[in-house]
Amino acid sequence: MKIMQVTAQELLDSRGNPTVEATVHLDNHMRASGMAPSGASTGRFEALELRDNDPQRYLGRGVLHAIQNVNAIISPALVGQDVTDQRAIDHLLIELDGTDNKSYLGANAVLAVSIACLRGGACARQIPVYQHVAALCGRPPEGPYTMPVPLVNLINGGRHAPGSSDFQEYLIVPLGAPTIVEAVRWSAEIFHHLKTVIDNRGWRTTVGDEGGYAPPVISNEEPLQLLMTAIAEAGYTPGDEVALALDPAASELYEGGRYHLQKDGAVLTSEELVDLLVDWTERYPIVSIEDGLAQDDWDGFALLKKKTDQRIQIVGDDLFATNPARVRIGAAKDAANSVLVKANQIGTITEALGTIQVAHECGMTAIVSHRSGETELPFEACLSVGTGVGQVKTGSMSRSERVAEYNQLMRVERRLGSQATFAAFPFPRYAEVRP
Ligand code: PGA
Ligand code: ZN
Repeated sequence: MKIMQVTAQELLDSRGNPTVEATVHLDNHMRASGMAPSGASTGRFEALELRDNDPQRYLGRGVLHAIQNVNAIISPALVGQDVTDQRAIDHLLIELDGTDNKSYLGANAVLAVSIACLRGGACARQIPVYQHVAALCGRPPEGPYTMPVPLVNLINGGRHAPGSSDFQEYLIVPLGAPTIVEAVRWSAEIFHHLKTVIDNRGWRTTVGDEGGYAPPVISNEEPLQLLMTAIAEAGYTPGDEVALALDPAASELYEGGRYHLQKDGAVLTSEELVDLLVDWTERYPIVSIEDGLAQDDWDGFALLKKKTDQRIQIVGDDLFATNPARVRIGAAKDAANSVLVKANQIGTITEALGTIQVAHECGMTAIVSHRSGETELPFEACLSVGTGVGQVKTGSMSRSERVAEYNQLMRVERRLGSQATFAAFPFPRYAEVRP
């Protein structure tokens, strides 16, 4: 199945910012599209998202140059390629770009094309995208499949919800659920109970960029208490059935070698922030902490990992930027035991799959993740099932671009029937640290 042409157009993401949609046209009149998501708390080591910087359009955020790169440079190079050969396509894209960080063509242009080809390849093979992904990972497309445990972001702060907490994400982890269908139901019920808990405090119940509530809490610890109350009110056991996770996105709080926590009126050293997080893990059933320290703070990460002694998942997002070289540095420094995988941080599907492989080689878990600016395609659901990584982070139980991912996970699980098994969460040992 050969590629005839690749086209692109400028559409909007979930935040109303322009993004790239690429469409691959195949030789039997089939076509498939891919869209690039976009971060707000972007790390310094991510691939470059090409923006026009023309203040006359979309406050400088237009992507017409990236569109032009697809139409004029990428399309002629991909004509005649077999759309099912994702590796060859992605290597061509990498070569065509020729930079370390996709800054020539733009990672938004490259990833939109890479996703379009992945979806086109599935279409050409007449199999679902997750099966095509499984085949690319060298696994039998007919299964069995591991359904990911979702990390559900019910309280948004930081850059995703100004006025809320300094820390960016407070998540629930329904690790005690038997299936993804049940995990979603539990999470949605807790989401609705959380609304009442927040409403009862007289606070607004509006949501942030990832669909979690954004209450004007008075401390960075308070969201944990709100979640504990909502879990109990919904009738679930905090810890055993539904655990907690955090993404402070600490790079955003780091300035002049210190962490600035406005809600707490505190300016902390790396060691002090580690102590704060460790203290929380002893008082709340926290099973995972992502970017608890800043993207350059390898020592802080290593200290947090040491002090939590493999009981807790220590995840690098900005720290690793889905970059295999950084994952290997992290392994050598013993700085984390998990890698957040965001395809647009590296630029192609093949590279994202490679990073997952390197994570596993280093003995780390991997989590497939969305971005705060998302598209309407439930892509992370397919990638998480196809790779079988066992965890997915794709926002709250509201906003259609987030819910679309959960709906897709439920469809896939029902379709797979006995071929689907809900993943065991790899760090369920919070109970051992509880007093
Ligand atoms: P971002 O946030 O997409 O704005 O970077 C997500 C995250 O930090 O995990
Ligand atoms: Zn993050």
